[in-house]
Amino acid sequence: MSVFDELAGQEAVVAQLRNAVAGTLPASGGTAPQPSGKRHGMTHAWLFTGPPGSGRSVAARAFASALLCPFGGCGECASCRQVRAGTHADLLLVRPDGLSYGVKQTRDLVLRAAGAPSGGRWRVVLFEDADRCTEAAANALLKAIEEPAPRTVWLLCAPSAEDLVTTIRSRCRVMTLRVPPSEAVASVLAERDGIEYERALACARAAQGHIGWARRLALDPAAAARREAVLKVPVQTSSLGSALAAAAALVKTAEDEAKTVTEELDEPEREALRQAFGEGSTGKGVAKAMRGMAGAMKDLEDRQKSRATRVKRDTLDGALLELAAFYRDVLMLQVGAEVELANSDHVDDLRRLAQGTTPESTLRRIQAVMRCRERVTANVAPLLAAEELTISLVRG
Ligand SMILES: [Zn+2]
Repeated sequence: MSVFDELAGQEAVVAQLRNAVAGTLPASGGTAPQPSGKRHGMTHAWLFTGPPGSGRSVAARAFASALLCPFGGCGECASCRQVRAGTHADLLLVRPDGLSYGVKQTRDLVLRAAGAPSGGRWRVVLFEDADRCTEAAANALLKAIEEPAPRTVWLLCAPSAEDLVTTIRSRCRVMTLRVPPSEAVASVLAERDGIEYERALACARAAQGHIGWARRLALDPAAAARREAVLKVPVQTSSLGSALAAAAALVKTAEDEAKTVTEELDEPEREALRQAFGEGSTGKGVAKAMRGMAGAMKDLEDRQKSRATRVKRDTLDGALLELAAFYRDVLMLQVGAEVELANSDHVDDLRRLAQGTTPESTLRRIQAVMRCRERVTANVAPLLAAEELTISLVRG
């Protein structure tokens, strides 16, 4: 077993990561990184890019695990388990709490990152969604990458290299992940999660290669039900009234899902904070500690609120991508293209729409979905953007 097993269909990237790790293992005689100009081997800053679902943060985490593991990423030792749980002392995991990273958050991180590793060969900083850095935060990050601490490795993740400023990008080795083929995702789900292969394949297709999403579709009945609700939109929108109802349903579906995701994260965080302040204890200084906790709790709740906004927006975007994939399938049938359909489990609906409409109107509908995604990203109220969308879908 290896921490890289999870990476479906990314053989080229995995080979490079394994090569880099091998050079740093004690058995190979080297712990010092090679100059970053070299094409292979180890370097201080890595950038993982790829479309949503290609597994860029999974890849970065597997690499972190391999760098910290005494056996190069066995997936089973204490170190690997701690990386999986997010509790490893030499792994700093950074996610934006809100919509973007602020400069203070980044400065704190840079300071912590500069310390020597507590046990192993490296201290690893994993920066998910590095594209969400504010400009000031990017400058703080750039300084850290320009003059790296000798044993610190930076792993940045972003949708594409162009999402980062050139000065940062040019100092990173870029690992580009591709959307894995459905068969590769299905094999991972079948082998690691024990899901029956045919079902795993249908879920992998529906999730368009997004392994986490495919797994959720296969294992969580609520996720499967939400997908069904989204895919009803194209067949139900026939009048203005039904369009408005479909928009409301679309937004509610996304909000329900986002709520489930955030609630799972929120309560453990509040609990951890209460424990850190020793809630329930008595004695001297307790009153003072309680006042400190109130302030910290308020900070936490503010951050949770802003994360909830981000999750809501991301979830709605996911639903819109499902909708776009549905119309893409319709278009493929209309032009007779021999490609794998993402929604082969809804082939009757797809055929009906393909026969009853023209490729031109399908294209306009896809454009309407994409416009809605842009509007949501630009902070237009989700319901308003969704109503504009479903009205365009009725018009065709
Ligand atoms: Zn290990």
